[in-house]
Amino acid sequence: MKRTILITGSSRGIGAATALLAAKKGYQVCLNYLSNAQAAEGIVKVIIENGGKAKAYQADVSSESEVISLFSKIDSDFGSISALVNNVGILEKQSSLIEMEFIRIQKVINTNIISNLICSKEAIKRMSTKYGGKGGSIVNVSSIASKTGSPNEYVDYASSKGAIDTLTVGLSKELAGEGIRVNAVRPGFIYTDIHADGGEVNRVDRLKASIPLKRGGQPIEVANSILWLLSDEASYVTGTFLDVAGGR
Ligand code: NAP
Repeated sequence: MKRTILITGSSRGIGAATALLAAKKGYQVCLNYLSNAQAAEGIVKVIIENGGKAKAYQADVSSESEVISLFSKIDSDFGSISALVNNVGILEKQSSLIEMEFIRIQKVINTNIISNLICSKEAIKRMSTKYGGKGGSIVNVSSIASKTGSPNEYVDYASSKGAIDTLTVGLSKELAGEGIRVNAVRPGFIYTDIHADGGEVNRVDRLKASIPLKRGGQPIEVANSILWLLSDEASYVTGTFLDVAGGR
C-alpha cells in the first residue's frame, strides 16, 4: 500500500527538496504552501512527470481551522497520512529583541510553534494505534539556532526552535506506545530564501568560513536526513536530533 506524507511549507527550500525526495522514495506527497502557488505547483509537476503522485494545498498552518480543513482534504484525496514533516518556519529582519514589534514576535511564535502543535495533533488522530491508525513518523524541522540562540539576529526565532526541540522530546515519549516515532533535524546554514527574509540574502556565504566543513548546506542534504528519520531504517530512533550543520 502507498504511504502518504504531508510536508508543511514545501513550495520552496528544504520543504521542496524533501517533497521531491519523498516522491523518489515512493511516497504520495501532499505539499503545503502559504501564498506561492506557482512554486508549489512546479514541484507537483516535476513529481507527476517522474511518475509520482502529489498535490499542493494552500493553507496557513498557524490557523487551526485551516489545518483541520487541510487534513480533511488530504483524507479525501489520499486517505490517512503515515508521515508528517513539520517544516514550516519563518524569521523576520535581523534585530535585537528591544527593537522587535510585538506583532512580529507573535507571528514568529504562532507560525513556528503553534503550526507544529496543531499539525501534529491532526496527524496523531490519524496515525496513532490508540485511535485505530497504523502508526507513523513525524520529523520536526528545528534549527541549530535552538543551541546558539541567534543573539542580535532573531532570538524570537531561536526561542521557537528551542520549543520545537522540547516538543520533540515530549511528544516522542507521549507517542512511543502508539506506533509513532518523533524526531527532529537541526539544519545549520542552508542555501534557501529564508535568509532574504532576515534582510541578508548572502548570509550563508558571509558565515561559511565559521562552519567546520567550510561551506553552506544544500536543501537536499537536510532532506536526506529527514527521509532517513522517517524510514524503517530508523525504526529504533525516536526523540532524537540530527544536526545537519556542517559540524557547527
Ligand atoms: P523558505 O525557503 O523560506 O520556505 C518557507 C516555506 O514555508 C515556503 O514553502 C512558504 O510558503 C512556507 N510557509 C511560510 N509560512 C507558512 C504558513 N504560515 N503556512 C504554510 N506555509 C508557510 O524556508 P527554508 O529555509 O526552506 O526553511 C524550512 C525550515 O528549515 C524552517 O523551519 C526553518 O526554520 C528551518 N531552517 C532553515 C535553515 C536555513 O538556513 N535555511 C536553517 C535552520 C533551520 P510560500 O512559498 O507560499 O511562501
